[in-house]
Amino acid sequence: MRLEDNIRRVTPYVPGEQPQKKVVKLNTNENPYPPAPGVAEALRTMDADRLRLYPDPEVRMLTESLARYCQVDPEEVFVGVGSDDVLSMSFLTFFNSGKPVLFPDITYSFYKVWADLYRIPYECCPLDEKMHLRKEDYKRDNGGIIFPNPNAPTGLYEELDVIEEILKSNPNVVVIVDEAYIDFAGKPSAVSLIHRYDNLLVTQTFSKSRSMAGMRIGFAVGNRRLIGWLKDAKYSFNSYTMSWPAIVCGTEAVEDRAYFQKTTEKIIAVREWSKKKLAELGFEFPDSSANFIFAKHPEYDGGMLFSALKERQIYVRHWEQPEIRQYLRITVGTKEEMQKLFDALDEIMNK
Ligand SMILES: *Cc1c(COP(=O)(O)O)cnc(C)c1O
Repeated sequence: MRLEDNIRRVTPYVPGEQPQKKVVKLNTNENPYPPAPGVAEALRTMDADRLRLYPDPEVRMLTESLARYCQVDPEEVFVGVGSDDVLSMSFLTFFNSGKPVLFPDITYSFYKVWADLYRIPYECCPLDEKMHLRKEDYKRDNGGIIFPNPNAPTGLYEELDVIEEILKSNPNVVVIVDEAYIDFAGKPSAVSLIHRYDNLLVTQTFSKSRSMAGMRIGFAVGNRRLIGWLKDAKYSFNSYTMSWPAIVCGTEAVEDRAYFQKTTEKIIAVREWSKKKLAELGFEFPDSSANFIFAKHPEYDGGMLFSALKERQIYVRHWEQPEIRQYLRITVGTKEEMQKLFDALDEIMNK
């Protein structure tokens, strides 16, 4: 037996670059606006002496605030260190049958990594020619289902009746709907379905619509039995996942609904304007309901555009996966940032 035979080896998830210099950063779907003013105020006035103590393991303040926001019971909410933490814990807790877990072939690439890490078998279901989910693919024997809605990196939203059909076809496995981008959709969240389907878990994050990627807060909503199982796993792993500053700042963000609505609306408006500009430049893209646009140009190579933009200090996301290598995933920034992107594309494509 060699040393390496005793090691859990995985191919890790590769996040988008976080350059240390100042660039037009449209590559990791962060929010271009600051968090709610109450967050900065809470950080300014925070009593460092409070850090001597462990935080509340039940994270009651934030959980209760989220429960009011989602119009559910606090026992139906689970919080974690970003939705990546919540999702990882959910894979560990819910996907244990030994049967393959199902998710789309073009989707958040972390799902594969967690499945590999926890040795959960999985099968990827191809999207249809318009890049929508094919619900028929999710009507077979499986060990659980997960997909984002809106999907990433396509930005496409699936109507709740599609999700309900998948839930009804799979009463004995957990179906996770990853709503990282739901606040930009202007469409209903699957949270409204949790009392009707006891196999539904919905996750959301503070990293995108709440401008707090650096604070690491995510949460799940589901019936209390599912949430109870998640908590059991979490307390067996690390009782204190949420830091005190995260609990305080997260609560401030949830309580300021007016600010949240204002910044979200601004991003949606810039997204719709950006779609027009991209179409004028000849780009093709699925009709995004998220804070990014997944676009390709029939005449210009995706990898070439990615590199040429990067040379001009404009960062977008690009993958080498064959099915999507012609595409760029462009985060919706401020109108000024997007104008810089369009000016650069104009220059690159007119040479
Ligand atoms: C960004 C993202 C997440 C994770 O976000 P956190 O920062 O960990 O909360 C989860 N799922 C999808 C689809 C995402 O795009």
